[in-house]
Amino acid sequence: MNDMISQQNSAPRHPGRLFLVTAPSGAGKSSLVNALLKRQPNIKLSISSTTRDPRPGEVNGREYHFITETMFLEMKNRGEFLETALVHGNYYGTNRTWIEGQMAQGNDVLLEIDWQGARQVRSKFAGTVGIFILPPSIEALEWRLHHRGTDSDQTITRRLMGAGAEIAHAPEFEYVIINEDFDTALSQLEAIVTASRLTYAQQAIRHHDQFANLGVPV
Ligand code: GDP
Ligand code: ADP
Ligand code: 5GP
Repeated sequence: MNDMISQQNSAPRHPGRLFLVTAPSGAGKSSLVNALLKRQPNIKLSISSTTRDPRPGEVNGREYHFITETMFLEMKNRGEFLETALVHGNYYGTNRTWIEGQMAQGNDVLLEIDWQGARQVRSKFAGTVGIFILPPSIEALEWRLHHRGTDSDQTITRRLMGAGAEIAHAPEFEYVIINEDFDTALSQLEAIVTASRLTYAQQAIRHHDQFANLGVPV
């Protein structure tokens, strides 16, 4: 019994964190996340499945797993998604087994998902870190969507019309970044990741033995 207790006490709980990054389409979420991952390669990015068509330059399995609606609904029925949502007329979902595997290994994982998905993930995992990315203005959002050059006018209009509804959920997130100057926003995103790794609880897990040697209460 004592052995079991000491084993439990010395076995660190998995220290991985789940970062949720949400934004209206065109705010710069994917650009910021991709730049963050270059600086912090130890964060694992969840590749969602979606029923939307790939944009020019998108590669199946890199930006998304592009699947048919039939396949999506079959996977959903089999319980293969941690969360799903219908966004701008397309289905999106997060692969459950992949996330659970990463968490079990203690990896930090980042999800780029909409507010509906963020809510579902929060209800399943404690201690998630929610980051909402805002554009500097709606005009800037519109300009960025056009300038990105990946979507039809009809798609852009639909995304702009959905922007207000997404932004209305910003208060549900712990952190907000206004992506005006890209490098500033990137530094702010990195600062959030760094700070969230330095909380007492995270450090006590990561540096369990050192804390014990120093006599820090754990
Ligand atoms: P973007 O907003 O211009 O980057 O366009 P995307 O087509 O990449 O994403 C459309 C929406 O779907 C965004 O709100 C994403 O956050 C959301 N999304 C992407 N992947 C997922 C996912 O796995 N689950 C959920 N719930 N939403 C997702
Ligand atoms: P999201 O993933 O939120 O839809 P993207 O990362 O695709 O947004 O960015 C939308 C467009 O805006 C891209 O063309 C990107 O290069 C551009 N962009 C991102 N951040 C900035 C910024 N701070 N200033 C100007 N343009 C930006
Ligand atoms: P896009 O089609 O422009 O790549 O993404 C549109 C929106 O879908 C974005 O707001 C993005 O965050 C969201 N999204 C992408 N993948 C997922 C996902 O797996 N789950 C949820 N809930 N939203 C997603």
